Amino acid sequence: MSSHKTLQHKLKKDKRVNARDGNSHFLDITCSKCGQYVALYQKDGIGSLLRMYLDRIFEPKEVSALQFKEDKKDIPNLKCSKCGEVIGVPMVYEREKRLAFRLIRGSFAKKMSEGGLESSSREN
Ligand SMILES: [Zn+2]
Repeated sequence: MSSHKTLQHKLKKDKRVNARDGNSHFLDITCSKCGQYVALYQKDGIGSLLRMYLDRIFEPKEVSALQFKEDKKDIPNLKCSKCGEVIGVPMVYEREKRLAFRLIRGSFAKKMSEGGLESSSREN
């Protein structure tokens, strides 16, 4: 394993962003129970965060890789890696036939992010 370095992500720009008026930003998603980092997510557009589309999850890589699954049955619940709290359950957003996690209210906290990945989190 090589040393830690900061990984800087870039916002995805595609037709889905344009459809949501281009107001995209990164969010750090953390477990509300223990503060563990859960995911780096690109939110397109304004409004509350009810679901996370798999193709907008940048970190962790093992979760990001799930976007290439074809069936939500192949997708496990999104859980906190530290305390095991369930953050989201797999779903298909029918309007776009898009895989997503339906987020469980109160299980997570979100914070605006620059898209850089910190190796440790001091929040909470
Ligand atoms: Zn936790």
